[in-house]
Amino acid sequence: MKHTLIKVEDYEQHIGAETVERILNKAKSLQDLQVINFNSTYYGGGVAEMLSPLTLLMNGLGIKTEWRVIQGTPDFFNITKKMHNALQGGNINLSEMKMQIYEDVIYENAFRNHLDHNLVLLHDPQPLPMITHYKKHSPWIWRCHIDLTKPHTEMWNYLLPFIEKYDAVIMSCREYAQKLSKPQFFFMPAINPFNIKNQDLSESEMDERLAHYNIPTDLPLVVQVSRFDPWKDPQGVIEAFRLARKEVDATLVLLGNFATDDPEGAEIFESLLESREERILVLPHGDDTALVNTLQRRADVVLQKSIREGFGLTVTEAMWKGTPVIGGNVGGIRYQIQDGHNGFLVSSIEEAAQRMVQLLKDDDLRSRMGQNARETVKQNFLMTRYLEQYLDLFNSFEAIFRVNGNNGS
Ligand code: UDP
Repeated sequence: MKHTLIKVEDYEQHIGAETVERILNKAKSLQDLQVINFNSTYYGGGVAEMLSPLTLLMNGLGIKTEWRVIQGTPDFFNITKKMHNALQGGNINLSEMKMQIYEDVIYENAFRNHLDHNLVLLHDPQPLPMITHYKKHSPWIWRCHIDLTKPHTEMWNYLLPFIEKYDAVIMSCREYAQKLSKPQFFFMPAINPFNIKNQDLSESEMDERLAHYNIPTDLPLVVQVSRFDPWKDPQGVIEAFRLARKEVDATLVLLGNFATDDPEGAEIFESLLESREERILVLPHGDDTALVNTLQRRADVVLQKSIREGFGLTVTEAMWKGTPVIGGNVGGIRYQIQDGHNGFLVSSIEEAAQRMVQLLKDDDLRSRMGQNARETVKQNFLMTRYLEQYLDLFNSFEAIFRVNGNNGS
């Protein structure tokens, strides 16, 4: 069987030959580099969504790039999800037992992962303490994808000594910068336009997906695609939709999935089921990527009414499909949506409802905003821009890894 992988050259149609050439050149000096990524799930959520194409593109450029997932017990993932929530500003009871379980599981992962790489990239808080278990001879970078606008102080102070051991920290947006002695970089996430989630679909493929899940198409569609997570405010979306429906008729679809490192999902999903009615669908089929693609394309309006949002790839994905997005005025969403130009930013349920009505009633506005949205993503949020930022960072570390050798565990 013939296998084809997307390479940087395939992006030429979107980014032009000059940019492709520039990226290829930047990779030339990195041919001996061996990079390893650790995160906590192979699927579900934005981190895995990006690691998949990013690591393939890097390998396509000749940089030997691995991706491993740490192994953990349900207790561990319950604790790390609480930590994630606390870093986004929620509360946590940071007991001795929680810290013990967290650090024990990480120790086990370090014990079984032998690293001989020139560059180590750890994603999010789950694998963070691994660094304490290796003799570090080359750069270690912590890539934090979380909204760090207002982290819980005790939580942050507990993690800080681990973070300070890294050579650099990458965050998604400038306002997440923290007081650290190490350099901080800001890389906004990006999408892979070639995967099943983002590629073009024929009308008949989309009709088939919608029919398969009995999603009605007789009225305009309002859609939010998100993990079932309180920060995504699915309840707020339902309330806003109920308000909007007093003025314009539509169907709401809340589509979600469950990441293996996010144990909260099932509970939130259950709680939303009470709000279901003929025109409010709550669907757990978010692992069907063709369905995600279809809904983001067929929606008249996409919502991402988050209260905190590290970046919000779902916003980018819908914008790429030319669909106007109403996004919570928080975190990374603010860097994607220019209010009134390529979508709307909202800070309350009432505002979300009002923008929904406005968009649903105005075909021209939807089409204009949708076009602007697509252009925004083309200019700023395709995977090659993200890749190039990593190449620049790796090149800046080049001197270090050339001089030094390996990591010994
Ligand atoms: N996603 C999905 N199905 C779902 C919900 C989410 O495939 O039911 C994907 C979504 O398309 C996006 C990623 O998971 O690619 C979510 O990334 P985002 O940055 O929006 O949020 P996160 O889950 O990382 O907080």
